[in-house]
Amino acid sequence: MTAFALENCDVFYGKAQALHHVSIDVGRAEVVSLIGRNGAGKSTLLKAAIGLNAVRSGRRLFDDRDVTALKPHELGRLGIAFVPENRRIFPNLTVEENLRIATVMGRTGPWTLERIFGLFPRLEERASQGGDTLSGGEQQMLALGRGLLTNPEVLLLDEPTEGLAPLIVDQLVEAIRVINAEGIAILLVEQNLKVPLKLARRQFVIDNGRVVWSGTTAELQADRARIETLISV
Ligand code: ATP
Repeated sequence: MTAFALENCDVFYGKAQALHHVSIDVGRAEVVSLIGRNGAGKSTLLKAAIGLNAVRSGRRLFDDRDVTALKPHELGRLGIAFVPENRRIFPNLTVEENLRIATVMGRTGPWTLERIFGLFPRLEERASQGGDTLSGGEQQMLALGRGLLTNPEVLLLDEPTEGLAPLIVDQLVEAIRVINAEGIAILLVEQNLKVPLKLARRQFVIDNGRVVWSGTTAELQADRARIETLISV
């Protein structure tokens, strides 16, 4: 069963077409990656997924239901959460306050502040520190925690490990595994293959606003040299 899908979507910025007949789907409790180089259209696709970009033709589906016409807050209420690349931490709020805001905005469910602190003990240690004092990895944990506190069914992650040290990347990969094991479907957006190969079962490659390759992780491994050229800068 499909948790989330875009079907044959066209997206425009003014007269310029940014996405061309893009189709991508994430099954229930599945991890799927969307990989592409700078400017390939990844953020545009994510914005289309959460309703910030209008889909001119094609459909947006949630739990096999047509949600093309819904607004971002309505999609959020249904259970789609977006963790943006720049993490959007409130610098003047503490770590705990940053998290509590999400509990107010989101749905109720299994993810509570205590569980987020269990998943990311570093956030508990730094609960009363300002958001602006966190390292890049801690900011990413906080952004993930905020997304989880909305108790989503589908989590969209925009380059969650970008610019982070290998040890922190490993911790985040492990955390994403735990989150997925709880039944949350994940669309993981990345510029390179490293984390997608560790986490995802299926992969989509986007370039020039088009899905140019899709397949299983095993198929990607077999076609790796060609895929590397599709995503190299
Ligand atoms: P990055 O990895 O740098 O974030 P990306 O794969 O997310 O890149 P997008 O940001 O989706 O790529 O950009 C896709 C194309 O759409 C680019 O040609 C970009 O210049 C264009 N674009 C993005 N946002 C806008 C906008 N607000 N108005 C006009 N064109 C835009």
